[in-house]
Amino acid sequence: MATNWTINGVREALTAKKISARELTAEFYKRIEARNPELNAYLALSPERAQAQAERVDALVAAGKPLPPLAGVPVAVKDVISTRGTKTTCGSKILEPYVPAYDATAIERLEAAGAVILGKTNCDEFAMGSSNENSAYGPVKNPVALDRVPGGSSGGSAAVVAAGLAVASLGTDTGGSIRQPGAFCGIPAMMGSYGRVSRYGLIAFASSLDRIGPFATSVGDVARVLQAIAGRDPRDSTSTTDAVPDYLAEMDKPVKGLRLGIPKEYFAPGMDEGVRKKIEAGIEIYRKLGCELVELRMPHTDYAIATYYIIATAEASSNLARFDGVRYGLRVDGDSLVGMYRKTRGAGFGAEVKRRIVLGTYVLSAGYYDAYYLKGQKVRALIARDFREAFTKVDAILTPTSPVPPFKLGERTADPLQMYLADIYTVTGSLAGVPGISVPCGKIDGKLPVGLQLFGPAFGEARVLQLAQAFEQNGGATV
Ligand code: GLN
Repeated sequence: MATNWTINGVREALTAKKISARELTAEFYKRIEARNPELNAYLALSPERAQAQAERVDALVAAGKPLPPLAGVPVAVKDVISTRGTKTTCGSKILEPYVPAYDATAIERLEAAGAVILGKTNCDEFAMGSSNENSAYGPVKNPVALDRVPGGSSGGSAAVVAAGLAVASLGTDTGGSIRQPGAFCGIPAMMGSYGRVSRYGLIAFASSLDRIGPFATSVGDVARVLQAIAGRDPRDSTSTTDAVPDYLAEMDKPVKGLRLGIPKEYFAPGMDEGVRKKIEAGIEIYRKLGCELVELRMPHTDYAIATYYIIATAEASSNLARFDGVRYGLRVDGDSLVGMYRKTRGAGFGAEVKRRIVLGTYVLSAGYYDAYYLKGQKVRALIARDFREAFTKVDAILTPTSPVPPFKLGERTADPLQMYLADIYTVTGSLAGVPGISVPCGKIDGKLPVGLQLFGPAFGEARVLQLAQAFEQNGGATV
């Protein structure tokens, strides 16, 4: 029986009755039991829910009924996405022992498509981080290089797919948290356009930036999961009413003649030499495929990190105000109401979350709002304009996903600013609202994965997937 399951592989095996959905689910739980103690990638499992869903799929098979697109596919979900009946922590102590009473729309849609939800994955607390080391439940190990971080904040979702403990997973991306862990764990990972996937049931970090998106072992499987979760949801007013294209049909088209923009600002000093060589080799693949390579200028790129860390922290400080010991999770009693707030928030939040609440409160405060938050919004508009202008000249933009390969556990925790600076290539697309994917682009010394990032115009996911798949099918993973 296959060890590297794909969505099509699951479908074929179920249809041919080589395995039942129940057996497949049990096989995945066995793998998790064997491997998770070392990786620390799952925080909670939902075997009853998984079993019930597997039974529904098996009943369809037995009745000879058509199978929905993700029938029987074992998936994992980042622990910032609400799952009815399964503990949801956001990688924090402050929500303990919160069990959501409802499912996020993305979860409902996964299950409606037949997927079997195995459990919840570890992440940086409230998705704030780039290494998964800000989780209150300990770091995740990178399954490809065990002494290294898996990236963050969706480190658990990347690790479980890379380790074969789920066929696909959902993560969230606010400033890189899907794409960067995808790059670090050597698998494709995608955020659709802002508004493409409903955020209903996603516990908010920065609402104008947060997006839910998939990890899988192939670009095709990323597309299949995105297809299942995308589309308008009346419960999220920012979700788009635009029709969702048929991604799989669109992405098989040849890429010859497509114009790929290479922005100069993304190849400045500071990038690891090993990463640079791999990305250059990756660019050669596109050249051979007949793509036109166009040098671009995106002049506001330098301001992206500062802008992101103003806007994201401002929104986080507002969003996280709801965790006050009254309505959810942890409460530490004090001698007054304010005392209770202080003690609860002091005990419940980790250091990085506190740092961001303080920063965010500062940039929103009366005397500084204009100088920081308002200015940040203006620069955000300029960054978005850089993208819009670029897309009048090119079909997609090619960059590295991260300036560095996966680093060692503990290597960067002492200096938050260094950690923030590593988000340089991902936060731009987040601020602009455009779709982005990271695809595997070789391994440095055959060991450390590198990710190549592609951005497309807003709602141009199909183009991004098409180019990513061409890369994958033409040796991208082994350049
Ligand atoms: N690393 C970035 C941060 O710490 C991005 C996080 C994310 O995308 N959720 O904010």
